[in-house]
Amino acid sequence: MIVAVDGPAGAGKSTVCRLLARELGYTFLDTGAMYRAVAWALRRQFPDGTEAESIRQAPLDESFPLRFDIQDADLRIFFSGAPLGDEIREPEITRLASSVSQLAWVRSYLVGWQRRLSADGRVVAEGRDTTTVVFPEAEVKVFLTADLATRARRRFQEYLAKGISVEYTTLESQIRERDEADSKRPISPLRPAPDARVIDTSRLEISQVVLILVDIVRSRERADPPRIEAGP
Ligand code: C5P
Repeated sequence: MIVAVDGPAGAGKSTVCRLLARELGYTFLDTGAMYRAVAWALRRQFPDGTEAESIRQAPLDESFPLRFDIQDADLRIFFSGAPLGDEIREPEITRLASSVSQLAWVRSYLVGWQRRLSADGRVVAEGRDTTTVVFPEAEVKVFLTADLATRARRRFQEYLAKGISVEYTTLESQIRERDEADSKRPISPLRPAPDARVIDTSRLEISQVVLILVDIVRSRERADPPRIEAGP
């Protein structure tokens, strides 16, 4: 079973999906973290280049020192063998991730990783195109959304908790710009899959959203129980 969750920045996807995966005993695949990791790695590889140059020069293949792995039902990211953590959440990397994510070859590099990492199933995959491009056959598809003010407030509190200083109004306009860029881009634009359940979380607590999703997954599991292979 693959549970794919899509939606705009700040709709609560990451928090909800992490809790949902834990509740179900599934792996949590944070695909946004993978785009951030590429952005961080490009910045590290080409610190002096302009963005366009950095991106054009980067060979995103096996020689690129970025690796992804699933350990303890969670995505781990390594750059030249060293683990990457919260450095990929810095505002500059957030902005760069949004621009590298518009490049077809970055997307196909990461979509390949995402499918390989999910080959065994029992995955909650979170991110922009998980319901449409990465896992079009996912058994459960959800599009989480919320109004702009709610999303900006949530992101602001997240940054505060991590000790990252940012102006609320700047954050709100950055989210609006990212929404615009992500919805209008030609490749994998931000939009719900036709068969996704759209859930507006503006007036819901995180725990309520998790409960709704657990319910959706459990009823799908009941409708479609795992196949047990017959013995010889
Ligand atoms: O979700 P998060 O904010 O970590 O994502 C960072 C950026 O990566 C987003 O702005 C989006 O442009 C991009 N992204 C994407 N496709 C995904 C996940 C994230 O294009 N599946």
